[in-house]
Amino acid sequence: MTDLPRPSRRKPDTAIYERMESRVRSYCTAIPRQFTRAEGAWLHDSHGGRYLDFLAGCSSLNYGHNHPVLKRALIDYVARDGIAHGLDFHTDAKAEFLDALETVILKPRGMDYRAMFVGPTGTNAVEAALKLARKVTGRQTVIAFTNGFHGMTLGALACTGNEGKRGGAGVPLAHVSHEPYDGYYGPEIDTADLLEQRLADGSSGLDAPAAFLVETVQGEGGLNAASAGWMRKIAALAKRHGALLIVDDIQAGCGRTGRFFSFEEMGIRPDIITLAKSLSGIGAPFALTLFRPELDQWKPGEHNGTFRGNNHAFVTAAAAIRHFWSDDAFAADIARRGDLLGRRLDAIAARHGMGTRGRGMMQGIDAGTGAMAERITGIAFREGLVIETSGADGEIVKVLAPLTIDDDLLAAGLDILERAVNEATAPTYGVAAE
Ligand SMILES: *Cc1c(COP(=O)(O)O)cnc(C)c1O
Repeated sequence: MTDLPRPSRRKPDTAIYERMESRVRSYCTAIPRQFTRAEGAWLHDSHGGRYLDFLAGCSSLNYGHNHPVLKRALIDYVARDGIAHGLDFHTDAKAEFLDALETVILKPRGMDYRAMFVGPTGTNAVEAALKLARKVTGRQTVIAFTNGFHGMTLGALACTGNEGKRGGAGVPLAHVSHEPYDGYYGPEIDTADLLEQRLADGSSGLDAPAAFLVETVQGEGGLNAASAGWMRKIAALAKRHGALLIVDDIQAGCGRTGRFFSFEEMGIRPDIITLAKSLSGIGAPFALTLFRPELDQWKPGEHNGTFRGNNHAFVTAAAAIRHFWSDDAFAADIARRGDLLGRRLDAIAARHGMGTRGRGMMQGIDAGTGAMAERITGIAFREGLVIETSGADGEIVKVLAPLTIDDDLLAAGLDILERAVNEATAPTYGVAAE
């Protein structure tokens, strides 16, 4: 029999957080528990409660919490006094990671890329990509897309669409043109054609771009999924206009949409790729910028960072790559589970006149409004399911279960989600509480 969530009713004492921690915190206010332990798809709290994790660190835990193979590799490495922090020193852990990346991921896909280690979070990988594209092309303008999310440092934030996030910048966010993403004006209008027209028109006011920065599925922006055809048009446009194609695969990559890279079956070859979130596999911060070798025009130290040598992350990332990606079994498993997920979400959504979004194990329900989505996730949490929202208004209930989750646990979580949608949309919602 499947274990079910067993949420604790008691709220922990949060005085220390209220006294000491900045008000900038956010997830913990929707999920007001204190967690002590986690394994697989489970989170355990300080009152013995057990929650199913359909947030998975915003897709930073694609292989689940504390996967035994990754944990073993890390424990062994620490136990033998392996290098923990290595600046950009050569270390056996880094060599092993690069070898795994080359032999298991890049070579079999016919991909020739150079790896640039950057500061440990996704936004660092995006900053490096933007800097390199501007340096190589000598151009300033970057084309980003509506609802895109690329990180919170100024360069990446300038490419991010969300007004609430942009508002925190405090200075003008410049040198980016935000163009309509695939489907922005509905299914009838091909926004790649609109962009082509603007780029071809010397009087459109659009400067020659250094790069296009795009997600294949918009993780924070509402799970809008670009079609392969649209991505191919965008890639061709970039090439024709001398701009570099940067695919931000920080959330959609590392298997979340089915393959190691989210664009593998789209027939495109990005000039630059950013990876982070699930790259280390165990939740340790690790980000990477990959680019075609001829773009490697950096001077030594021209882009830098103290924490470019998180060797613990190299160890778990290499172990994850070898364990999960050495053959096609994992990708097949994700595809099968993604189908299950899609079918369940379609059925739940259809019963309530809602739509679904996304691709692979990155799908969700469009609840129509942020208020309705929050109501759904609130009820789900009460029943022991940790799940969050996405989109301009937070209107998408987003399922980011670990890719390794058992089918019956996935079903159990979706049962909770289904009941939550039923309850949230019932005419009696809130009445009983009066
Ligand atoms: C999360 C995310 C980022 C930023 O990564 P951080 O580690 O939060 O800096 C950038 N791009 C995409 C697509 C993301 O999902």
